[in-house]
Amino acid sequence: MDASHGRPEVLVVGSANADLVVAAERRPAGGETVLGGDTEILPGGKGANTAVAAARLGARVGLLAAVGEDGNGRVLLDSLRESGVYTDLVHLVDRPTGAAYITVTPDGENSILVSPGANNTLRPADVDTALPGAGIMVASMEIPLPTVEHAVLAAAEAGIRPILNLSPVAKVSERVLRVLDVLLVNEHEGAWLLASGFGKADADPRRLLELGPRAAVVTRGARGALVLEDDGVTGVDSPEVEAVDTTGAGDAFAGALAATLAAGASLADAARRAVRVAAVSVTRHGAQPSYPYADELPGGGQ
Ligand code: ADP
Repeated sequence: MDASHGRPEVLVVGSANADLVVAAERRPAGGETVLGGDTEILPGGKGANTAVAAARLGARVGLLAAVGEDGNGRVLLDSLRESGVYTDLVHLVDRPTGAAYITVTPDGENSILVSPGANNTLRPADVDTALPGAGIMVASMEIPLPTVEHAVLAAAEAGIRPILNLSPVAKVSERVLRVLDVLLVNEHEGAWLLASGFGKADADPRRLLELGPRAAVVTRGARGALVLEDDGVTGVDSPEVEAVDTTGAGDAFAGALAATLAAGASLADAARRAVRVAAVSVTRHGAQPSYPYADELPGGGQ
């Protein structure tokens, strides 16, 4: 797709990180040095992942993010462009590109150290120039909280549907929750939010609506997702697949949800397509490289 014509219909506001992955027999303890395998550099970060997932489905997508003028920044920009993401809104700044240092051990366990770097330079005012023309704005965390909160409030003010993928979960203001079109969380994040809002860890997910969003979607791993709206709860089953790597599955879901909503679908139908997209992503290695194009979806792109 040529991403150069027309303003993006889906604006993604979020992080862009290089995932630096090293396999090792064990993770080093304090003061210890362990030799591992070759470093694999993969494009990642929740914002960039979401934008790639949405663009591969054919939506016109722009990403507001910040990367450094370094090799990792170029890896990220290449991946975004190859997938058709409009990258004019990606700031090139004088800080290192965000990096996630990931150690993978034979037991399959990951330890991850994130250095946000350039992501920390995204300011609330950067959102204002990026919003015009969008129909949907989807924000995620890993960038400064004031920027996320401003993105949601400014989108709502401008009549743009704000979706917040509250991941990694953090306390956001009630004002922000109340203007959301869709609050998107996984089960753990949902439980955390309910506990912080109502002081009860096992609260019913329907109570997420009491926090103020018009609708909420809770992803449930292999069990699919729940769509919570005023008029009821819709369970969306995931296709059964052999999962090999679930990295970035939630971001694949977020991107697919936004792209499908932008095409005019209902929230339940968008969630039905998002579980199909996320299911493909877990059958392949990596985050962005695992995301399907519309014509790769089993049973057709819709
Ligand atoms: P996160 O990746 O944010 O932790 P989830 O684990 O809920 O969130 O995964 C997000 C979505 O990815 C799920 O709603 C589902 O559609 C898909 N998914 C995740 N794991 C699997 C799996 N093992 N099999 C099929 N789909 C999966």
